[in-house]
Amino acid sequence: MKCDICGKPGARQRNVPRNYGKGESLLVIENVPTVHCSNCGEGYLTAQTLKEIERIKQNQQNQQTAASKRPVAVAAFE
Ligand SMILES: [Zn+2]
Repeated sequence: MKCDICGKPGARQRNVPRNYGKGESLLVIENVPTVHCSNCGEGYLTAQTLKEIERIKQNQQNQQTAASKRPVAVAAFE
């Protein structure tokens, strides 16, 4: 595929995990399609991928809000 940054062919798409946020709001999204170009060395996400990530983050926030309303706290033995 063509690189959006330098315009040369040879860019490849790879699915890699990416982290968003930190601490309790850390969100790991796996298999994010990331474009890597061997000509200019850039790695970037397409507009469509960014849109999809925004949607996933929104879903995640909604789920967390729902989870925090549960009356029972969940704990685990070390
Ligand atoms: Zn490039």
